[in-house]
Amino acid sequence: MESRKLGKRLHRQLGRAIADFSMIEAGDRVMVCVSGGKDSYTLLDLLIDLQARAPIRFELVAVNLDQKQPGFPEDVLPAYLAGRGIDFRIVEQDTYSVVKRLVPEGSTMCSLCSRLRRGALYRVASELGATKIALGHHRDDMVQTLLMNMFFGGRLKGMPPKLVSDDGRHVVIRPLAYVAESDLERWAALRDFPIIPCNLCGSQLNLQRVRIRAMLRDWEREHPGRIDRIFDAMARVVPSHLMDRNLFAFDALQPTGQADAGGDRAFDEDDAADPCGSPATGTRVVAGPRRRAAPPLPEEGSP
Ligand code: SF4
Repeated sequence: MESRKLGKRLHRQLGRAIADFSMIEAGDRVMVCVSGGKDSYTLLDLLIDLQARAPIRFELVAVNLDQKQPGFPEDVLPAYLAGRGIDFRIVEQDTYSVVKRLVPEGSTMCSLCSRLRRGALYRVASELGATKIALGHHRDDMVQTLLMNMFFGGRLKGMPPKLVSDDGRHVVIRPLAYVAESDLERWAALRDFPIIPCNLCGSQLNLQRVRIRAMLRDWEREHPGRIDRIFDAMARVVPSHLMDRNLFAFDALQPTGQADAGGDRAFDEDDAADPCGSPATGTRVVAGPRRRAAPPLPEEGSP
């Protein structure tokens, strides 16, 4: 029962993300990057199912990059992919030795490792004639990235559901953009995917990302729905209420001369909330920043 409900939700969210961002079109050849983790197994699983049911025809080819990390179980993915009866390639490229040789002991290896992996996957996508590269990032990855960029990079920048690759030659899609990580964990357990551990390289996980992840999980426990609200906010940007002068022409602002009941008020005489710290009662607040009304909450279960 749980599995049927969860399966339906996952398929619905995958379908909506694909439709909302025009991720897959008729005739596409989609290269699905499969690492052996829960996210990419689920992505492939759902896409195989979608392919059978979709009104349009598209091809799937699964690709795993064997980075020659010590202990990588080489036979697990080929056996699984062959069992699913889909086209696949295992690409062997020893990025592990390169990273070990070039990165000083104790420094983080992830940046060089990711760069090498990205280059290898782009090359394979070209060789396979793939028109899209599908990655298994999900809703929580996207929220974490937004916060990481704010906290450590000073930028309001997330992880897009669809983008053109940095070499300018490929379109990368993230069909799991609307899916919660907890659902992926449950699905992977229900489907009993042969998970390959992700710590074979011996690198420390990015500590800052680990902390942000823990913080988000705590928030979600205390305030259920908070991750969804942050996620929703990424799709409802109001440039006039941020400070990027490239996105909004503040210098061209002029009075319109037209009253707008739903418009902004810079001052609010009857605001009971007291952001300035004056006593809550007995003092008349003459003017102060107006607290904006919270936007209506999306429907239950969104996205
Ligand atoms: S955790 Fe290991 S495999 Fe993953 S990016 Fe970092 S170095 Fe590479």
